[in-house]
Amino acid sequence: MNVRERLKDHKRIVVKIGTATVTYPNGRINLRRLEQLAWVLADLKNQGKEVVLVSSGAMGVGSAALGFAHRPTEIRFKQAAASVGQASLIQIYKNFFNEYNQKVAQILLTKEDIKNDTRKATASRTFETLLHLGVLPIVNNNDAVATVEFEFSDNDTLSAVVAALIRADLLVLLTDIDALYDCDPKKNPDAHRLSIVEEVTPEIMAMAGEKGSAFSVGGMETKLAAAKLCKSIGADMVIASGENPKILHRIIEGEDVGTVFIGRDVE
Ligand code: GLU
Repeated sequence: MNVRERLKDHKRIVVKIGTATVTYPNGRINLRRLEQLAWVLADLKNQGKEVVLVSSGAMGVGSAALGFAHRPTEIRFKQAAASVGQASLIQIYKNFFNEYNQKVAQILLTKEDIKNDTRKATASRTFETLLHLGVLPIVNNNDAVATVEFEFSDNDTLSAVVAALIRADLLVLLTDIDALYDCDPKKNPDAHRLSIVEEVTPEIMAMAGEKGSAFSVGGMETKLAAAKLCKSIGADMVIASGENPKILHRIIEGEDVGTVFIGRDVE
């Protein structure tokens, strides 16, 4: 069996959407995209999948709302911006998901919640209970309270940690680049898309380029680190363009889009 075919059978799915996909370059929310995302995720739920969304964008949205031109560097402004933006984001998600009668919940995590066994077990139980109740959890780093040593460095890492915590079958990273290429496609028109990656080797790591917009955090490097974490728990991971969230249907139907990182051997 090809790994693409296996994706159809995955039941528990974590989808991560990055800041550059959630927002326009000016930091304001891309409503059209989030509405499509809610439609696709609610539809996957109707198919019987369990879905967790990890959404970035709080800091970008909050920064735009507060009139900052860039992601603030001073921690107190970062935290203030993220708090403002997180409230807007959740409100918008809730409204869009409500159109499809899909209940959502907000879960904000710090590294401490995963390092500490009791807190980790509590977080895991909350996820399980929400999924059991048919709720779609929406996760972000708890930016308002996390200081540098306690925050997840980026949401690619956070989404892989969540995938591990809930033993997901599949993590999909929706991003502003449509796949992993053998060299930077923005600079090199001959760049080739890698459809399937079996192992994140040093050669694959060397293919990671630079990161995107003024408000973004991660880049290809953090996505490859997420792929390694997924592999350690046997979960498949896909990097794909978030431009049209309907791509999630295509991924799950086994179409050859984006890059799949194999989590465990394909029988
Ligand atoms: N937690 C940050 C936010 O919501 C994003 C971090 C990331 O995108 O990696 O703005």
